[in-house]
Amino acid sequence: MNDFKARPYEPLEKDHPLVGDLCKLCNQPLLIGQRPSLVIDVDKYLNPDMLEEKEKMLANKVHNAQAAVVHWTCILLYDLPRQKEI
Ligand SMILES: [Zn+2]
Repeated sequence: MNDFKARPYEPLEKDHPLVGDLCKLCNQPLLIGQRPSLVIDVDKYLNPDMLEEKEKMLANKVHNAQAAVVHWTCILLYDLPRQKEI
């Protein structure tokens, strides 16, 4: 988890299912033309169903990653770990 790096995805087209979803960082909707990205969603590991995955994550073992969608611009704004621009 600690070496997770966010990357930008292609700008959202009008029929993309993520359009209108809320960004986990700024709580604003993702709009057409914006680039989405993903971050680890730590909150999801609080779910009792995720305890086993959380243990694996903490032990640095392979685990199911729980991700949340965010704006790529929010990744930059919050200066989160990210891959180099492509
Ligand atoms: Zn955002």
